[in-house]
Formats: sequence, C-alpha cells, structure tokens
Amino acid sequence: MKVTFLGTRAEIEIRSRRHRRHRALLIEQDDARIMIDCSSDWLHRLYAIAPTAIVLTHAHADHAAGLFNGAPCPVYATAATWKSLGRLPILDRRTMPLRRAVLIGGVRFSAVPVQHSIRAPAVGYSVLASGCSFFYLPDVAELPEASGALRGIDVYIGDGSAIGRSIVRRKGGE
Ligand SMILES: [Zn+2]
Repeated sequence: MKVTFLGTRAEIEIRSRRHRRHRALLIEQDDARIMIDCSSDWLHRLYAIAPTAIVLTHAHADHAAGLFNGAPCPVYATAATWKSLGRLPILDRRTMPLRRAVLIGGVRFSAVPVQHSIRAPAVGYSVLASGCSFFYLPDVAELPEASGALRGIDVYIGDGSAIGRSIVRRKGGE
C-alpha cells in the first residue's frame, strides 16, 4: 500500500506553497487508486489523479467541493454525509456503513463516527491493506480514544488541533 498526501491544509489561510492544498489522501494498492476527500482544489484535477474510488469523511466544502462536477468513479460516503451534500451530479453513489468493514479495491475501510460538526457529521477511517493499517481523521474536535478506534492501528494520521485538548464548541458553533 502506498499513501500520498495530496494536500494537508485545513480551512485556514495558505501560509506556504507546500501547505496550500486541502487535506486529501491517495491510497494506491495494486490497480486501485483510492482518494480520501476531495476539496475544490481537485475540481479540475480529478481526471489527472484518475481515482478508481473516492471516499469522503464528511460534507464540508474543504472535503467535498471537488465533486461539484461529478466524479469519474464510485463515491463512498455515509448516509448522513450524502444527506448533507444534497444534489451533486455523482452517478455512482455508495453508502458507507458505520463501524463495518468495506473492501474497496483490496483495501479495507471501516468508518468510525467522530465529533466534528452537527451539520456535517464526520467519520474517520480505519484503513488496512497488505498487513499495514492506519487511522485517517482529517477533521475532528475530539480524538476518538474512547471508542477504541485507534486500538491495534500502526499509524494515526490526523487533525493535530485536538491532540492536547478538545476543541468542541458547545454553543453557536457549527
Ligand atoms: Zn470539516
């Protein structure tokens, strides 16, 4: 399994050239090219990346706005994310179940719900292929330690803003 960081920026100002694109990951395994998340940075680059599947963590624009013109492959998202996304010209929509393994191109994904946004419920993904595993969580307000999602995982790749403390906003936040 080969993992490429297509982007690492959150919804913050661009501070450097190497940090300008929004968070997205490309997983390559045999012939599969699976992209996790797809912001507007990829709107006109999707055909160049040529993913064989796209998996979404949640519906916020910095994770899904690259799909406004559709997608050249199946797109996986939870039922809650499809509901938040509304109408998008995506022909092959697949519903990602929660806490149940789904095999996509030889890579096993398991969606774990996390606290992030009420309007755009988010998941992190436990990803396993070729005996390697990682947990990918680009946007979260509180690390999901209690859920046991990180147990047995080789590497955590994720949002660093909540590592030291919870950043949950209880009132008036989104
Ligand atoms: Zn978000």
